[in-house]
Amino acid sequence: MSDARSTAVALAKRLKDAGHTAYFAGGCVRDRLLGKQPKDYDIATSAIPEQVLKLFPGANEVGAHFGVVIAKSHGHHIEIATFRTDGSYRDGRRPETVSFSTPEEDAQRRDFTINGLFENPETGEVIDFVGGREDLATGVLRAIGEPAARFAEDSLRLMRAARFAVTLGFEIEPATWAAMCEHADGLARISPERIRDEFSRMIVLPKRARALELLVDSRLIQHFLPEVLALIGCEQPPEWHPEGDVFTHTKIMLTMLENDAPLELCLAVLLHDIAKPPTQTLDGERIRFNGHDALGATMAEEILRRLKYPNDVIEAVSFMVSRHMQFMNVQQMRVAKLKRFMAEPTFPLELELHRVDCASSNGFTENLEFVKAKQTDFAAQPLIPSPLVTGRDLIALGLNPGPLFKELLEAVQTEQLEGRLLEREKAIEWVKERI
Ligand code: ATP
Ligand code: MG
Repeated sequence: MSDARSTAVALAKRLKDAGHTAYFAGGCVRDRLLGKQPKDYDIATSAIPEQVLKLFPGANEVGAHFGVVIAKSHGHHIEIATFRTDGSYRDGRRPETVSFSTPEEDAQRRDFTINGLFENPETGEVIDFVGGREDLATGVLRAIGEPAARFAEDSLRLMRAARFAVTLGFEIEPATWAAMCEHADGLARISPERIRDEFSRMIVLPKRARALELLVDSRLIQHFLPEVLALIGCEQPPEWHPEGDVFTHTKIMLTMLENDAPLELCLAVLLHDIAKPPTQTLDGERIRFNGHDALGATMAEEILRRLKYPNDVIEAVSFMVSRHMQFMNVQQMRVAKLKRFMAEPTFPLELELHRVDCASSNGFTENLEFVKAKQTDFAAQPLIPSPLVTGRDLIALGLNPGPLFKELLEAVQTEQLEGRLLEREKAIEWVKERI
């Protein structure tokens, strides 16, 4: 009796036994009806926070004036919220006041019909004041009430609409879509962190290319990643890119990634050619994008910093963007250089980026195959083995730490990676000859 659902059923029962109404609400009802495992359970109740807290002594008041209490039981966190009506929204983010009310009014304040359902935890009966069941059955994402007013109240719903449509594979109902497009500017009032969280959840979805399309078509993206709009209509040499402009190329790549591609990879794919528009030049007949990898890395860093991504994500993505053109040279690289190239922690993701970069355009696989063969060749030993000679050895040879020091150690490592130096004694001899 300790899975999330049983735990939530038990909490709801305690509320009911004390004389209150208690329903499951929102996402958990939607997910059960879709046959999906709910992420978490939310309970909506007639009990006011004071009464809830009395029934669940260890519970936390998270937003008492919003009527929300979090109860912990069997390692699950369950949100218990009093049925409420939201007052006016002045800032486009949250209501100024809330008042406790009825289940029907509580359903009306929720964002989309499919999120506005209640369930009687004991019987499984679904209570639907908003037509959510039918929309779930037909695959429609529809705002509750007047769509324009709902997006004007809370602009985060713009991002949520796109996310739910893509996650569930639902069509956005036309009036809801029209209101999204009309109110897209409201996103300017939402913090970068909240936009980022929604965006991250969308860009890792298997249907991430549809997410990008919705964000572009609604112009929502204008408010947090306008650089992507410049990819549209950015022409490329047809012999390398028969698929079309940079936006089309990027979108196809997003569809070609594995379903569970990690966030860093999805972002790197999205941003790998972000500097093509500002670097585009015409060299006779030939379109060129000299330096788009280096400038792209800088732009990716600026964009992700603006969206408040953590440093490790920013660094990984920017690094991958900076190196994506180097795959063209792998067959010409000396062994030491290739090994160092392949030894970077992001390399497996970069290889995947390279795979979809080619597969979505010219279809070349030579460099990919070459690197894969090398991975097999090199598999017996670590790409970067432990050093034959260390700084301590150089000091013992009478050298002082400095730039030359580093150069020497790197030179020994190059010999080692190339397979020309394999033993410590020989390596020390080699250094002595060079001092
Ligand atoms: P997820 O699977 O992403 O958790 P969810 O539907 O459970 O989906 P939550 O953000 O956990 O989404 O919110 C729980 C419920 O609260 C929603 O189903 C919806 O009824 C309501 N809700 C959440 N955010 C909003 C909002 N911005 N405006 C109106 N109602 C909202
Ligand atoms: Mg939820």
